[in-house]
Amino acid sequence: MAKLILKNVYKRYDNNKKKNKKQNDYAVNDYSLECKDGEFIGILGPSGCGKTTTLRMIAGLEDITSGDIFIGETKVNDLHPKERHIGLAFEDYALYPPLNVYDNIAFNLRAKKVNEEDIHKEIMRIAPILKVDDLLDSRPVGLSGGQKQRVNIARAIVRKPKLLLLDEPLSHLDGKMRQVLRTEIKRLHKEIKCTTIIVTHDQLEAMSLADRIAIMKDGKLQQFGSPLEVYDNP
Ligand code: ADP
Ligand code: ADP
Repeated sequence: MAKLILKNVYKRYDNNKKKNKKQNDYAVNDYSLECKDGEFIGILGPSGCGKTTTLRMIAGLEDITSGDIFIGETKVNDLHPKERHIGLAFEDYALYPPLNVYDNIAFNLRAKKVNEEDIHKEIMRIAPILKVDDLLDSRPVGLSGGQKQRVNIARAIVRKPKLLLLDEPLSHLDGKMRQVLRTEIKRLHKEIKCTTIIVTHDQLEAMSLADRIAIMKDGKLQQFGSPLEVYDNP
């Protein structure tokens, strides 16, 4: 785990002008944020305000136009995603259909040539926390949306990332399952204490999960504070 710092980060998509004439040119505009080691941060805001772009820049999946991003003490601006030691779980689960849950979770560790014994230990550590221990032999096709998202998060977390990035992880789920998985994510964070960023447009989700909430509007950071601070000054 590590702290995360964004310093005056800007993002302009070259084709952005055509896509939204009304908005400013920047998808992310002078964004600065400091997350403490082990903190759970929610990035909250309406569709199109720049949440996913922010997360993708942290992950290295999108170039930044200007500014700096630090993970721990390391400036990561020019680092490849693989060198950033992050775990990603997006809205889409993107599990490999032919592989069972165990092999799905093991996939990235095997790609990194981690030995099977260590892979096994790590999966056995994480699987019960996310309640996928009974699913390890199943294929993704037979799983519910909630179960798939648990596997997806397990796959992101077995890599022992410095940062866990979650992009709308609950938005495909129905109300009840959303609530259950929200509680699980909270518990997971308590147990593994990994610095975690969740992107969501759901105020309740951000309020119930995050230590601090960053509210975005039109690419800008509008407010940053505890759920109470943000709630008291809407
Ligand atoms: P959010 O995640 O809050 O919905 P996004 O980060 O996806 O917002 O989008 C922020 C802005 O950037 C929007 O105006 C969107 O249209 C624009 N945008 C996002 N991705 C691209 C892209 N690949 N090319 C051009 N514009 C984009
Ligand atoms: P590793 O080298 O850790 O095995 P991968 O080769 O699986 O990592 O992926 C490299 C990087 O690709 C990841 O660190 C992550 O930043 C990025 N990435 C892009 N899309 C995804 C995704 N859907 N799930 C996981 N990682 C992703």
